[in-house]
Amino acid sequence: MTGGGDLRTEGLGRRFGGLVAVEDVSVTFAAGGVSCVIGPNGAGKSTLLNMICGAIAPSSGRILFDGKPINGLSRHAIARAGIARKFQVPSVFGSLTVAENLAVAGGGDTEEVMALTGLSGERDTRADVLAHGKKQWLEIAMGLIRKPRLLLLDEPTAGLSPEETQAVAELLLSLRGACTVVVIDHDMHFVRALSARTVVMHQGRLVAEGDFASIERDPMVRDIYLGR
Ligand code: ADP
Ligand code: MG
Repeated sequence: MTGGGDLRTEGLGRRFGGLVAVEDVSVTFAAGGVSCVIGPNGAGKSTLLNMICGAIAPSSGRILFDGKPINGLSRHAIARAGIARKFQVPSVFGSLTVAENLAVAGGGDTEEVMALTGLSGERDTRADVLAHGKKQWLEIAMGLIRKPRLLLLDEPTAGLSPEETQAVAELLLSLRGACTVVVIDHDMHFVRALSARTVVMHQGRLVAEGDFASIERDPMVRDIYLGR
């Protein structure tokens, strides 16, 4: 891994017709840190990540990667700049082995990434027979194979057991320093296991940020979740 990059948004916004999906979000994801973006369904979390990776264009504001503006660049240019994205939908090939999937994802360093993600023992296992939790690890490994400096993950723990969820949290924490990680999740068990810096979105806006312990105690954040 090459070390993390620093991602900053300034007044970022996105509208879909009359709907404001993201509004005036200014946030920093510091180099090498692990951050979690939480918030109820429809809060604008995926749209925020979609703008950062260039899948959709912002309606307003700026995105800076290591201080350089990247909004308006193509997805490929953003990927070349070192930003990788794992989508909510799985993208592994079931009929290929773990090592083959990583090779297809375009990496020369499959051994290093398998070691980093705890998959060395599964190198010859077909992806479709991997335990569900390990499939998620493979997804993360496929994001890491191109040595990104910023890894964006959208709900990597969907459908995982509590033990698997804990394992994904530990995996992400082990990346600290090697890569900047931004992970979306709305599973509070996962966010607690991660205990990372947490950003809360609600109705398109960034409404709170801080370490997880203070976020968890925040009455406004509790309202947002309980009032869902
Ligand atoms: P989250 O990931 O927090 O659940 P999203 O970013 O997916 O939220 O969505 C935020 C809002 O934007 C929602 O109201 C959603 O319906 C809307 N939205 C997201 N993508 C599109 C799109 N491509 N076209 C129209 N509306 C969209
Ligand atoms: Mg989403």
